[in-house]
Amino acid sequence: MGNYKRYVGLNFLFNILSTIFSLFSFALIIPILNILFKIEQVQYAYQPVDWNDLAGSLKNNAYWWMQQFIADNGGVMTLALLGAFLVVMTMFKTGTAYLASYYIIPLRSGVVRDLRQKLYEKIVDLNLGFFHKHKKGDIIARMTSDVNEVEASIMSSIEMLTKNPIMIIIYFGVLLWLSWKLTLFVLVVLPFAGTLMGKVGKSLKRKSQKVQTQMGQLLSQIEETLGGLRVVKAFNAEDSVTHRFEEMNNDLRKTTNSMQRRNMLAHPMSEFLGTATIAIVLVFGGMVILEGGSSLDASAFIYYLIIFYSIINPAKDLSKAWYSIEKGRASMERIDTVLQANNPLKVVENPVPLKPFSDKIEFRNVSFKYEDQWVLKHINLTIEKGKTIALVGQSGSGKSTLVDLLPRFYDVQEGEVLIDGVNVKDMALADLRTQMGNVNQEAILFNDTIANNITFGTKGATLEAIENSAKIANAHNFIMETEDGYNTNIGDRGERLSGGQRQRLSIARAILKNPPILILDEATSALDTESEKLVQGALEHLMKNRTTIVIAHRLSTIRNADEICVLNEGEIVERGKHEELIAKNGIYKKLCDMQSF
Ligand code: ADP
Ligand code: MG
Repeated sequence: MGNYKRYVGLNFLFNILSTIFSLFSFALIIPILNILFKIEQVQYAYQPVDWNDLAGSLKNNAYWWMQQFIADNGGVMTLALLGAFLVVMTMFKTGTAYLASYYIIPLRSGVVRDLRQKLYEKIVDLNLGFFHKHKKGDIIARMTSDVNEVEASIMSSIEMLTKNPIMIIIYFGVLLWLSWKLTLFVLVVLPFAGTLMGKVGKSLKRKSQKVQTQMGQLLSQIEETLGGLRVVKAFNAEDSVTHRFEEMNNDLRKTTNSMQRRNMLAHPMSEFLGTATIAIVLVFGGMVILEGGSSLDASAFIYYLIIFYSIINPAKDLSKAWYSIEKGRASMERIDTVLQANNPLKVVENPVPLKPFSDKIEFRNVSFKYEDQWVLKHINLTIEKGKTIALVGQSGSGKSTLVDLLPRFYDVQEGEVLIDGVNVKDMALADLRTQMGNVNQEAILFNDTIANNITFGTKGATLEAIENSAKIANAHNFIMETEDGYNTNIGDRGERLSGGQRQRLSIARAILKNPPILILDEATSALDTESEKLVQGALEHLMKNRTTIVIAHRLSTIRNADEICVLNEGEIVERGKHEELIAKNGIYKKLCDMQSF
């Protein structure tokens, strides 16, 4: 908010000015009425300005001047003058009102922009575990439709919140000055109206929350469908997904109906209550005047009523604003759960300074669980610099989980992960992760050019370095065959490339980053034999002079590893070189026999 103080100040200033101008323009009604109805009987005489009764003497002199003017120029001329005055005053009033909103707009849009930015920064920062618990569509809904809702309901009400209280307070002051008795009487009536309004507003937030949740579910399904359209078509599931969507869509409509109907109540209710209050004031005030002996004369009473009516309007808007803020608060809360989500990955205040990897990686008695079930149990593993360690085991045995602990995608619950004797928890995350390169089963690419995908995350790479990495990764040739070479856009997630090409790009990326530690998680398992050979060749270049943890689907690729660890249900059950494990005739032998190479 700090940056927006200037706008708030200007908005405040112009709102006050606008209110004052409107009071003046209304005040012109009094002499106009007096002239029209020929009410004025008192003869005014010029008074010198009296500082103790400034308003009284100014009013007196204005009236005196006007009587002079009427006497000299006649009633019609005076009316015309007053009319012109009214126009000018109104021009000032509306002009300053415009300026007030002019300065509130950057505040509105700024707050919404900041909100989006904060949300994005938060999701980039949050650890991976958060995204297993929340659906993607739901997060997208919070970032888009909830932010829009906040803009529409809360930010659009901000203007009313700054303007209307100013108007109401100033107007009320004038009312008190005109007739404190009548005004006190009004003050007794108003709270009743307020309570009634409040009852309806309460349920609005709950309903709005439901609407936004359903919106999130809807977006989740859209997101899933877009991702899985191929399967939807292959399984003839168009009807069933459409039907499911239709049901959700209808539910959303129903909730929206009931929410908006309630929201719409704000206006008619306040209008009705406002008019009822005016009627009461009219009768009561009229009685006072008809009885006579009051300080309030008829034209002043009309002025009173006009101002009173001018309070009703901002008060009405204020209640509308309050309703819509209730509505927006539901979205605000949903946004807040993301913003406040705590990142279980604690960063140490004074991280151990980064030193080049020189000795060994060590998993010391590591146990890990995602939720209740232990996925890794008492893992002890030492990987010396320059060695290649292979992890094998059935799907679900915990291989990927084990390697995710090294870059701290997750933190261990028991034991410790050490690099050169330093606990990974004591390092700065960025330092830790610059030392590692990942190549996974799914090459993760972005909708951008080939060159930008290779340099992703590496700053200031030269074109030469990019080409060099691509050559080592066996990617240069196919890149040159594409339309624009390194400037070819590869489409969403790289869909315009084959699986093998995608994988070689992600290898080129790892080569460019040139990390001392390499993690290969089933890097070739999604490929056909032909491209596997190319990728395998690229990987071997990549692994040269590096410390590598390789998870392989096809055991033929890890024969030469310095140590092979067989994982079973989260435990290392066998370890050794290929020949030793074959000789052991245990699980590894069985896995090999199944693949019969
Ligand atoms: P592998 O890579 O050996 O196939 P994983 O390490 O991916 O096995 O998974 C090990 C176990 O952890 C499996 O039982 C899997 O269901 C579970 N698991 C993996 N990721 C998550 C997650 N994000 N949340 C909860 N459980 C998970
Ligand atoms: Mg895996």
